[in-house]
Amino acid sequence: MTDAPAANDFIRDIVRRDNEQGTFGGRVQTRFPPEPNGYLHIGHAKAIVVDFGIAGDFGGLCNLRFDDTNPDTEETEYVDSIVSDIAWLGYAPASVLYASDYFEQLYAWAELLVRAGKAYVDDSDPETLSAQRGGFGKPGIESAYRNRGVDENLALLRLMRAGECPDGSRVLRAKIDMQHENMQMRDPIMYRIRHAEHHRTGEAWTIYPTYDWAHGQSDAIEGVTHSVCTLEFDSHRALYDWFLEQLPLPSDRPRQIEFARLEFTHTVTSKRRLKTLVDDGLVDGWDDPRMPTLRALRRRGYPAAAIRQFCRDIGTTRTNSRQAIEALESYVRRGLNAVAQRRMAVLRPLKLVLTNWPEGQMEHFEVANNPENPVDGVRSVAFSGELWIEADDFAEVPPPKFFRLSPGREVRLRGAYLVTATDVVKDEQGQVVQVNATYDPGSRGGNAPDGRKVKSTMHWVSAAHAVTGTAALYDRLFSAPVPGERTGEPLDDLNPESRYVLTNCRFEAALAQTAPGEVVQFERLGYFAHDPNEPLLFHRTVGLRDEWAAIQKRQG
Ligand code: ATP
Ligand code: MG
Repeated sequence: MTDAPAANDFIRDIVRRDNEQGTFGGRVQTRFPPEPNGYLHIGHAKAIVVDFGIAGDFGGLCNLRFDDTNPDTEETEYVDSIVSDIAWLGYAPASVLYASDYFEQLYAWAELLVRAGKAYVDDSDPETLSAQRGGFGKPGIESAYRNRGVDENLALLRLMRAGECPDGSRVLRAKIDMQHENMQMRDPIMYRIRHAEHHRTGEAWTIYPTYDWAHGQSDAIEGVTHSVCTLEFDSHRALYDWFLEQLPLPSDRPRQIEFARLEFTHTVTSKRRLKTLVDDGLVDGWDDPRMPTLRALRRRGYPAAAIRQFCRDIGTTRTNSRQAIEALESYVRRGLNAVAQRRMAVLRPLKLVLTNWPEGQMEHFEVANNPENPVDGVRSVAFSGELWIEADDFAEVPPPKFFRLSPGREVRLRGAYLVTATDVVKDEQGQVVQVNATYDPGSRGGNAPDGRKVKSTMHWVSAAHAVTGTAALYDRLFSAPVPGERTGEPLDDLNPESRYVLTNCRFEAALAQTAPGEVVQFERLGYFAHDPNEPLLFHRTVGLRDEWAAIQKRQG
């Protein structure tokens, strides 16, 4: 990665202090620890930028570690997608590791805790376990099995491991303190029995470690120094430390540090909720361009660099907040403005016929590919007497402040000629199906020789040269800024009109040469990403107008 180092933040302060005090011998090692139970979303991008960014800034290393401790929800499909999404985002893990590779070590350590009298097998049913935990201000109740002898516990744990116990019949718990004010410390569960096929270990195990029993120990096994996670793990830190204090670790005890999750308006960042959208057919899959997954954003045309820059610039804090989605879009727009080739595309075509155009004549105009970037050069765009213009750009009876084409009015066809509408052709329903106009042959290039001004410049496509294709326009997936705020159910705020597909678009011929996945600017309409698989299908990435700038100005 060649990104500039991020501004300072409280995590970097901690790392710097550790380095100064030689806490980890000056070593910095982080990890990104996804559970492979779904696709990565924009929230994960923040964690990735933090984890890899810190390692990068301090000359350390960052591993990808799959937290694959739950056989019911995890799949190889997700593992593969996570590996490729991280690469797309621009990061290369030092190693790809799996918590499931430590199952044997974790089990050995569990026996160690049992032998030390710090863990016990509990035969209570799940309801009893839950009821006895108590609650905030409500004391916990010690289980009837809490004072089992070491030998019995060891024998039962081995039975559990041997697959001799049915699901839910027993658990292994740490023996800490049922009156602890931190609920996480009330004899937390370390192992559950689950007879299920694991995507990597197959049927080798019938007991699976909980997050708390697996996470810190996996960090320690790998030599992680700074284990960065999100704020919901704040209350788990005491337990994280407790487990590590009991064990003969191969490395210094890692330090857990929590920061606030990244959330956005008008979307959800929870794999579980995103999975519902996919499973219930409310979107067309994990890579539906309306989704906040990295695959979807990529397909939609979001540059990885814009996402990284955004995640760095918003900083890393311990205060939960929701970012305006328009702010991210602003980064995307800025990123694309510098690189996207300009093209002309007519989304809702209306025929424009130049009645004084010489029969059969054809012209070509040299048009800049990207005025922001002269090295991108020019392309040749064909022009003729039969054109497509945007239906919105014509009004038979112009409303106030409508300065585009209408009968008797002259406008500029960008880079080509000035034209004046004369009359229209209508179908039986009275719909305008064709606009007739005359052009000024002296205005080649788009300017009148006498310097007269026109109020509008419009894009166009030569009918004889156009290719037909599809443009998908997108609105917010959730209409409410905070989905679920009203009713508690985000799906209640699902926008029923989040996608609008136009299948009869007319594109200038050069668009047929767009590479799969490339993002171009359709003049006056926005940035559009060419679908990676379907030729001439374009997804609108963002519009051209910077709504974020407008929002900031209003708040000014
Ligand atoms: P989800 O709630 O979407 O399932 P998760 O926290 O269960 O997310 P994990 O796969 O466990 O997802 O997350 C991997 C890492 O990414 C964790 O360190 C987690 O804290 C972090 N992470 C997940 N969501 C966000 C977010 N919205 N913002 C920042 N970091 C996140
Ligand atoms: Mg999780």
